[in-house]
Order: sequence, then structure tokens, then C-alpha cells
Amino acid sequence: MTMVSHGIGVSRGVAIGKAHIARRNQLEITQRTITHDHVEREIKRFRTAVMEARKELRKVKERIPGSTPAEILEFIDAHVLMLEDGALTDPPVQIIRDEECNSEWALQVHRNRLAAAFDDMDDPYLASRIEDVDQVINRIQRHLEGEKDKEHHHDYEGIVLIADDLAPADLTLLHHEGLTGLITEFGGPLSHTAILARSLKIPAAMGVRHARQIVQEGEQVIVDGHRGIILANSSRSVVGFYRARLKQEENRLATLKELKRVHSRTRCGVPIRLEANVDLPRDIALLDAEELDGVGLYRTEFLFMNRGCAPGEDEQFEAYKEIIDRMQGKPVTIRTLDLGADKQIDGRKNRGAVPVNPALGLRAIRMCLSDHGLFVPQLRAIVRAAAEGPVRILIPMLSTAQEIFQVRNMISAVTDDLRREGITVPDKIPVGGMIEVPAAAIAAPTFAKYLDFLSIGTNDLIQYTLAIDRIDDSVSYLYDPLHPAIIKLLSIVLDAGKRSGTPVSMCGEMAADPLMTRLLISMGLETFSMHPGSILEVKQVITSSRLDDIASITKRLLRATNPLRIQTLLRELNEHKCA
Ligand code: PEP
Ligand code: MG
Repeated sequence: MTMVSHGIGVSRGVAIGKAHIARRNQLEITQRTITHDHVEREIKRFRTAVMEARKELRKVKERIPGSTPAEILEFIDAHVLMLEDGALTDPPVQIIRDEECNSEWALQVHRNRLAAAFDDMDDPYLASRIEDVDQVINRIQRHLEGEKDKEHHHDYEGIVLIADDLAPADLTLLHHEGLTGLITEFGGPLSHTAILARSLKIPAAMGVRHARQIVQEGEQVIVDGHRGIILANSSRSVVGFYRARLKQEENRLATLKELKRVHSRTRCGVPIRLEANVDLPRDIALLDAEELDGVGLYRTEFLFMNRGCAPGEDEQFEAYKEIIDRMQGKPVTIRTLDLGADKQIDGRKNRGAVPVNPALGLRAIRMCLSDHGLFVPQLRAIVRAAAEGPVRILIPMLSTAQEIFQVRNMISAVTDDLRREGITVPDKIPVGGMIEVPAAAIAAPTFAKYLDFLSIGTNDLIQYTLAIDRIDDSVSYLYDPLHPAIIKLLSIVLDAGKRSGTPVSMCGEMAADPLMTRLLISMGLETFSMHPGSILEVKQVITSSRLDDIASITKRLLRATNPLRIQTLLRELNEHKCA
């Protein structure tokens, strides 16, 4: 019998593959009894995992560029030392011997004993160091798990992963191994994992409660990433229906390709700039400079993920130069680090106390301004790269003008230092701010005075305005880009840009939604930035629109207050046949 379950469709397309249930969560580590004869073999297995974890960390250290801050090197050294320390690795061996159990369980039992000891410490700093122990233990668990995985899967080709939740960094690794589809029990459509799934074109459904109980390991599973439906153990006719859907999707994409070399302008001749959002370094090779007007958002934080420590200045410079070269003279907007909230990097996870509201905490520009060891190498790398081609610097999560002044001062200081060192740097680099916090939208007329451009990040702007955590699927039903408050804020920003002559672009997911395109161009937005995979669909709408023709419906929509009426008017706007 076909089993069907619902969640939220976060990344379009259909995936048909073999289910693999992720067991990353420590709570899921189960005890397995082993026979007396197998004890020595299990101990060897454990010691091998420890050795592999150590080797991995040493390799990470070898790859670190010379300019890396000393504290990061110390951090890795501390982890290597822990892996060499019998206090961490001997007791699990004893537990395997005494209890004749699997390594994962023995390691977990030891971890819990250590956690209890750390809990008893009076010094809050020392107590919080259990995080380091956890990171090291997780690394060993990953190696134990990796060994198990290798027994079952040589890679993730043809696999639909079912997990409780998944960090963006893990998704990038799994994509590399060929992951076909993704189902998570938690997580919302605007989470960075969801954004990444869309940009990687991995069909995904999130918020599918109890998915790991509904689907069995190894069984065939279908993910309808548009509707958020998952089906397991389906009949041949259901599989046939979805295979036909896959084919239709392929045909639709083939038709869209014809728009590749068509100019992006409305029927009445207004040019609309279409720029790319770049998440992963691998996306750079996929950029087609001829098809794009530039890069509107380079999410540099992805350069920092899946590694033991931050990339140094030289490594960042090379990464930025690569994208600048690729774009052949078209502008590249490099956003400074937007770490924190759901974007964490291994080596810096949860330093100090764990924040209660990470999205409202030390995230993005706040983190950078509080950690010059992290920020200065990035600014130096960007300023150096700006000598290679047109670069714009974009500041994420601005909430006060003070932050603009601080960043500008730091850019000036870094530029002076580089000049003194005899390095060529450009005279001026445009600095823009992301409008993601309601305060920034309301203050846009002021911010526009101090910035060279504004970029609206609707993912966060909607999150912060409507008070809906973007990674919490239980409130994602409230996500509404057409909420009167959002429309009002967009109008303020667009108006501020127009009055001050400051260019305004949009780089949140709203810019990539073809259902929003007509409304946005009609409101005066002239630059869109999105994952390259969405560009042709948006261009199709632009080239079929005439601003005069749709102006009156837009006016009515902007005045409407009833949500149903707004939806009706949006449909009317999108279905209107322009002359
Ligand atoms: C946004 O918030 O809309 C945005 C583009 O930034 P990110 O999704 O990376 O937070
Ligand atoms: Mg954002």
C-alpha cells in the first residue's frame, strides 16, 4: 500500500530514489551487543575511527594558509590533543570490553559521563567547553558512521535522504556525493538549507513529521518537492505518473532555454537587470557571464563551511578573483560574512553561551564587527580582489547607521594598510547595505545617504517583520510576501532609492518567484538577483509585460487590505495579456 505524507515543498521537481534514513543525531545512537569473540575487532574499529579523525584534523591543519589567526590554529591543536589523550579515548575501549557493546554506544556513554562532570563545574567558561569535547566526539562518530555508510552506499547517487534536520554545510557535502532528494522532519522553506536545496536543484520536502517512521530504509521513495508530498512503497501506476512529471519538467526547461540570449527588458523597453546569487564556490563555474548582468549576491559564508578553520586572506582573495574573472568585467557583489543563526561553521559553533534567539543575536555584520580576526582578513581579500575587476561590498543585516560608519572606517583602514604594503587597490569600492531588518527598511531614506546601493533581502525582512523564524516549519504558513506590512516596507525602500538616486536591488527568494515579478517591476524594481536556475522563468515574465498595461491592477493591489482580495488581484495581474 502506498504511504503518503505531507510537509512543505521547498525545492521543486520530483525525485525518485532509494530511502536512506540519517542517523546523525546523538540521541539515536543505540546499543548493540556484540559477541565476546568480536570485542577485539570492535576495539580495533574504534581505534581506527579515532586515528582517522586525527588524520583528518592534521590534514586540515596542513592546508591552512600562513595568514590564519593563531587562535584558529590553537583551536585545531586542542582538538588533535584531545584525540591523542587517553582520557578521551581509553574509557570507551574499557566500556566495549566490559559491556560487550558497539563503539558508538561506548563513546556516547563516555560522553554523557564527561558532560555530567562538566556540568558540575562552577566556572561557566569551563562548563561550556563540553562543546569542544562534543565536536571531537562527533568527529569520531562521523568516522564510525562513515564506515557503516560505506558498507551500504558507495555514494548518494539515487538516494533520497531522510533526516530530522540538516545543516546547509552537510547538504553541500551530500550534494557532492550525488544526493537525489531530501526529506526532513523539521525546517522551513526559507531556511538556508532550503535555499541551498533549490540552488542545487535537489527536490526537497521539509517539515514532514515522522518521515523516518513512515519510510523504511532502502525502500523506494518519491519526493514531490513542489507540493511537499512524499510517497513510499508506491504502486507502479503512481511511479509512472511521477516519471511522466519528471519528463514534463525536462521539456519545460528545454523551452525556457530559448530565452537565454533574449534581452531582459519589458515589452515597453524598460531594461531589468538580472543578476545571480552565488552560494557555493562550485556555482561559479556554472555562471554564464553573457546571460547575466552581474553577481548581485555572493554568500561568502559558504567558503567557510565544512572545514576546521576559516580560510585565510590569500585563499579568500583567490576565491573572489575567480568569480571576478568569470564575470568578465560585469559587477560582482561580495557580501561580507553572514554567519550565525542557521549558518554555522564547524570550528566556531556555539562559542560561549548558546544564544536563546540566534537570529536576533550576534549574526552577520554584528559578528564581524565584534570579531576583527574574522573580518579584517575578509575585507583585505575583498579590497585586493577589487583591483581585478568591478566589485561591490554588501553589508548583511544592517540595523543602524553606526554599523555603516564602522564598516566604512574599517574598509578605509584596510585600504591604507594595503597601499602602505605596496599592494594595488582601487580608489573607490561601492558599499551597499542589505535591507533585511524592518528598522533598516523604515530608515532606508537615511541609510541611502550613506550607502552606494541597497539590496532587499526579503527572506530575513519577512522573517523579522512577521516574527516568523525562517527555519521553523510550524510557523511557515505565516510566510507572506504580500502581507501589507511587507508591501509597505518594499515601497519605502524603492521610494527612498528613487528619491536619492541610490540603486535598489532585491536578492531574497521573492526576487526568484515568477509570480511576484510583475508586481515588483510595476512597483519600480529594476534589479533582481537570484539563483541562476530561476533567471529564465523570471525573464519570461519580464519580456511578456508592459508597465502601462499592468499599472492600474498594481495600484489596486497596493491599496487592497483583504488577503483574499490581494490574491485575486495578483492572479489578475499575472494572467493579464499585455499588448
Ligand atoms: C535574505 O535574507 O533575503 C538574503 C538574501 O540573505 P540570506 O538568505 O542569505 O539570509
Ligand atoms: Mg539574509
